Amino acid sequence: MSVFCKICNGYEVKEKWPTVYNKNIKLYYCNNCNHGFLNPYFSKDELDNFYKDEYRKIFVFNIPFKKTVKSVKQMMEDTGQLTESTLRANMIIQKDDNKLNVIDIGSGTGMFLNCCYNINRNLKLYGIEPDDDHKYLSSNSDKFLIFNNLDEVKKLNVIFDKVTIFHTFEHIENLGDFLENLKQIINEKTEIYIEVPNGEYNWVKKSFVHLAHPQIFSKLSITKVLNLNNYKILSYDRYDKRTDYLICKVRFENQKQDQYLKLKNNKLLENIIDNAKWGIIDAFLKFIKDKSILIIPAKYLGVLSRLKYKYKK
Ligand SMILES: [Zn+2]
Repeated sequence: MSVFCKICNGYEVKEKWPTVYNKNIKLYYCNNCNHGFLNPYFSKDELDNFYKDEYRKIFVFNIPFKKTVKSVKQMMEDTGQLTESTLRANMIIQKDDNKLNVIDIGSGTGMFLNCCYNINRNLKLYGIEPDDDHKYLSSNSDKFLIFNNLDEVKKLNVIFDKVTIFHTFEHIENLGDFLENLKQIINEKTEIYIEVPNGEYNWVKKSFVHLAHPQIFSKLSITKVLNLNNYKILSYDRYDKRTDYLICKVRFENQKQDQYLKLKNNKLLENIIDNAKWGIIDAFLKFIKDKSILIIPAKYLGVLSRLKYKYKK
């Protein structure tokens, strides 16, 4: 079966290497879009199972010691995610944004929504989070409403003033469908913020490409997929000096957009992909991690893996 690019649907793609997490799932690169993607990808059932089990094991640092709001807050503080959420909220929410409808797609434990609430208590805050553990921690809040998916939100007949999508867009296999669906809860005034890992950031290990991210974006590829679905880029934003993420502030305009044609295709992502390494030491460390998770309860591994953040400080 031929493989086509998830952005341009073109066949000018190159097979690169198998992911370190599953040898059957391979990384591809599209020359036209400067885009990376995984193929073949999980079926819906496989994906559900993956998120229930394997996903948390890849990111043990995101397993709280206890399933309580306090423990999650401590975890978010330790890993710097609380600071990130605060910076994002300060960038996006104004004190006088009264009664606006704001939705965070992929709201996790509700950290960002909490930060929005702390800036302005007159916002109407919503979240979408499919993960039950995360939802459990945020769904009993009286500050915001959490839903399972976009279909549930559509039934509310609310048009949102601000939509935030932080580190969620790269998890989606069919971006066209998602962007089409999104149009039902927004209008041409809605401000949309999409933040993804920056594929052109100088990553060196093959483990950067993991199974939860079927898309690896460059500035060109994220601009292109948004433009092709009639979303216009208003600005590329940043909340600190780091370069490992990209934020696009966008708006839906019901006409053809061609901003991507003005961007140069530097093919930088291909260079990074071709130079990524996975040596014997990396493989050994992954082996140890995979084995220890069978013996040590995940919540203890979570605490252990967060020690590295303490040493960095
Ligand atoms: Zn392409």
